[in-house]
Amino acid sequence: MNIYADFNGSAPLSDDVKEYLIHRIQNGPFANPNAIHQVGARTLMAMEKSRKLISDYLGAKPNQIIFNSGATEGITNIFYTFTRPEVLNSGKKHIITSSIEHSAVLNETKRAKSLGFTTHYLPVNEDGIVEVEKLNELLGKYSNETALVSIMAANNETGVIQPIDQISKICKEYSVPFFSDTTQYIGKTSFNFNELGLDYAVMSGHKIGALTGCGFIIAKDPSTLECLILGGGQEKGRRGGTQNYLGNESIAVALKSIHDNFDKIGQLANKRAEFENKIKTDFPNVVILGDKAPRLASTTYIAFPGIHGQGVQIELESKGIFVTTSSACSDNEPVTSKVLKAMNVSDDIGRGVVRISLCLCSNLSDYDKIYDALKETYIKLGKLKSF
Ligand code: PLP
Repeated sequence: MNIYADFNGSAPLSDDVKEYLIHRIQNGPFANPNAIHQVGARTLMAMEKSRKLISDYLGAKPNQIIFNSGATEGITNIFYTFTRPEVLNSGKKHIITSSIEHSAVLNETKRAKSLGFTTHYLPVNEDGIVEVEKLNELLGKYSNETALVSIMAANNETGVIQPIDQISKICKEYSVPFFSDTTQYIGKTSFNFNELGLDYAVMSGHKIGALTGCGFIIAKDPSTLECLILGGGQEKGRRGGTQNYLGNESIAVALKSIHDNFDKIGQLANKRAEFENKIKTDFPNVVILGDKAPRLASTTYIAFPGIHGQGVQIELESKGIFVTTSSACSDNEPVTSKVLKAMNVSDDIGRGVVRISLCLCSNLSDYDKIYDALKETYIKLGKLKSF
């Protein structure tokens, strides 16, 4: 049996979503949810019910959810809002982010810089946790001139959870808007938008077993967002274009399925700890990135120093286990990812990592199979290495 272990990349459709969609596609309704006729109204009703469920699951209000195509669009929309010429001209010229953000954020901060903003990248410690003190320091100097603080909630490579509750408090003290990229966080651990005091969060359906191409922004005050896609004024004028109503409904179904399984987080975390301990006992040189930090229960980022991650990935794939490496390849030479560089990880380790990411619905026995396969792989590639 194959094991798909790349949930942080994209989750397969969840069983509940599949079942829902089969029924939904057979029965309709299909219409433009903004149409005034009866079929449109029924389509709208199904989508609005989903908006309500999503907001309930995530500690927000329905009018705080703006449907869109996913996290990248949400991130772009938020940066578009805070990097307008008016913002710069008002003197809010600083943008604070971290060195371990997803490229969807980092490319926006690069663009912000090219527009004249001053960008600051908070460092992380060797466990991959953003240094909050540095944020305090920056806001102490520049709070009146800061347009936005953008710090992710959980890192996509390491699974390390960031202290967003503390960051949120600090931003509030300084009255600076705080956006947290929650793409890897929502659905993998409990999340309450209003309790965390965030100003903005984003999500993609495909990360939690819903359809690809749908997602949302959660905004404390949606009127503060500048509309990125004008279209015909859908989503109360906040995001134009006919809504992906089937996708949006699938998000609510996927979130319900996750909520029904939340009590499994502890079991998953225990099983992962058992897996990691066994592999570290067998191979004392093995490094698990971020293992001293709070981490998502379903992510392991692991390296055998000196063995290339790509080799490990190919070997695992030949055994039916699908993982990813983090490293981008330039001229076929794997390079250490920017996240690991920020954590001061050496190339020997950085080139060796593979990311194993499961979900709450995974069979716990998957870890046993991954352990067997990884052990065989390390023995085989370890021998080759010594020739
Ligand atoms: N932010 C994080 C932390 C991610 O992991 C991803 C996707 O991997 C994104 C943003 C972008 O998500 P999408 O490609 O679904 O728009």
